Amino acid sequence: MALQLIDTGLLREQAYINGQWTSGDENTIDSIPVTNPATGEVIAHVPRLGEAETIRAVEAAEQAMTGWRRKTAKERAVLLRRWHDLMLEHQDDLAKLMTAEQGKPLPQAKGEVAYGASYLEWFAEEGKRAYGDIVPSHANDKRILVTKEPVGVVAAITPWNFPSAMIARKAAPALAAGCTIVIKPAEVTPLSALALAELADRAGIPAGVVNVVTGKASAIGGVMTSHPSVRKLSFTGSTPIGKLLIKQCADTVKKVSMELGGNAPFIVFDDADIDKAVEGAMVSKYRNSGQTCVCANRLFVQDGVYDEFIEKFVAKVRELSVGDCLVEDFDQGPLIDRAAVEKTDEHVQDAISKNGRLLCGGEQHVAGELFYTPTVIADATPDMQCYKEETFGPLAPVFRFKDEDDVIRMANDTEYGLASYFYANDLRRVFRVAEALEYGMVAVNEGILSTELAPFGGVKESGMGREGSRYGIDDYLEIKYILLGGM
Ligand code: ADP
Repeated sequence: MALQLIDTGLLREQAYINGQWTSGDENTIDSIPVTNPATGEVIAHVPRLGEAETIRAVEAAEQAMTGWRRKTAKERAVLLRRWHDLMLEHQDDLAKLMTAEQGKPLPQAKGEVAYGASYLEWFAEEGKRAYGDIVPSHANDKRILVTKEPVGVVAAITPWNFPSAMIARKAAPALAAGCTIVIKPAEVTPLSALALAELADRAGIPAGVVNVVTGKASAIGGVMTSHPSVRKLSFTGSTPIGKLLIKQCADTVKKVSMELGGNAPFIVFDDADIDKAVEGAMVSKYRNSGQTCVCANRLFVQDGVYDEFIEKFVAKVRELSVGDCLVEDFDQGPLIDRAAVEKTDEHVQDAISKNGRLLCGGEQHVAGELFYTPTVIADATPDMQCYKEETFGPLAPVFRFKDEDDVIRMANDTEYGLASYFYANDLRRVFRVAEALEYGMVAVNEGILSTELAPFGGVKESGMGREGSRYGIDDYLEIKYILLGGM
C-alpha cells in the first residue's frame, strides 16, 4: 500500500546537513531501502553516507555553535516551541510515516509524536532556567561565580523502536542548552528522523544546528566518537554497542549519556489490586510488540495471587489483535526484523524446554513473516534465557515467588537497572520495595512511567545520564567556575 501523507514534503529521502538536503558525494552514491516490516514492501530510499559526510555535518554543527549559543535562551525557546507546534500540527502524517517504517499501531505512533514533542516544549522552558550560582567567597576581595555553558557539538545515535521520540528527547535539551547536534538515526527507521529535520527547517532553526546523517553505522559512529569537535555523545540502544561507543569516546574524553538495555521486573504482591496489575502488565509488556527498553521482561507474582493473576492476564492477552497497523487498528504490529522474531522464539522454546507452561501464543502469527503471537509462559524459572536477557518481543514469562526478600533478590539479579514495576498496597511495603530495587526508575501500581517531567534513565549496565525533567539539561551543560580577584 502506498504511503499517503497529507503533507508529502514530510517524506524526505535525503540526509540533512548544514540546512541542505543531500544525497552525498556523486562518487559515493548508494542507498538504503526502507521497508515496511508488516509487508516487506520498500517505501523509500535514503542515502548510505559515511565518514566524509559525517565530518561535514560535524563541521557545520561546530560553525553553527557560535550563533546558536549566543542567542538568548528565550530566542532558542521560541524556535523550539515552533518545532513542537509543527510536530503536533503534523502528528497524523508523522505517525503514519512511523507506522510504515516501524510497524507499531497508529495510536501508539501518534502518542510517540506527542511524547517527543513534549520534550521540545519542556526544554524550551528549562533552557531559561539553566541558572548559575554566586558562592560565598573564601576572601573579602574575591568573588566566586559559577556559570553553565553548552558542552559543544553533540552527536546522537538513536534506535528504531522509538524513531521519533528518542531524537526529540536528545535534540530538545541539547538545543535548549545552546548546543548543536548531529543525529544518526537507526538504519531501518530514518524517515521519522528526516521528517523531524524537515520540521526543524520549517521552524526556522538555523542551518547547521540540527543535522541528520543516514548511512553506515560504524563509519558515522566512528567519526562521531573520534572527531575532536564533538564534545558529547548521547546514545540510546543496546548495551554491547553502548559499551563499544564509550570505549571509542575515551580517546577524546567525550562526555557520554547512555540509555541502554533493561531487564525490567514486574512484581505483583499478594496485597495488590489484581485487575490493575493485569492492566499494567498488558501495557508494560505488549506495547510496541514488547520492543521497548522499559518493557516488563520478567513477571514475578506472589503465591497467593498467582493463579488469579495468570487466569485474568492470559484472558486479556488472548484478546490482543495482531496485524498490519497501516491497514487496520490492531493492538500489535510486526516485530522489526527476522532476528527479533528468532530471538523471541528462541526464548520461548528455551523456556518450554525447561518446563515452562505455555499458556498462549508461542508461534509466528499468521499475519506474516515478522508477526509473533503474544505469548505467556507460566512457571518460569531463573535458569531460563528470558530471566537473564531482554527478550524485546511479545513474551511474558511469569515467575512464582514466596516472599519479599526472595523477589527483591531475583529482581536485582541482573546487570541491568533501567525500569522496574510493582503492585502493592501496603504503604510500608511500597517504600521498602521501591528503595530496595536497584533500578533508575520504579513504577508503583502503574505500567507506564515515561513523561518529559521526570528523569528517565538507568543504573548499572543500563547506562548513565538522565533524559527529561529539570535534571535532563545538565547532561548538555558544563559548569564553569569564575574567580574575580582584587574586588
Ligand atoms: P538495536 O539492537 O536496538 O538495534 P543497536 O545498539 O544495534 O540496538 O542500535 C542502536 C543504534 O546504534 C542504531 O542507530 C544503530 O545503527 C547504531 N549502531 C549500531 N552499531 C553501531 C556502531 N558500531 N557504531 C555506531 N552506531 C552503531
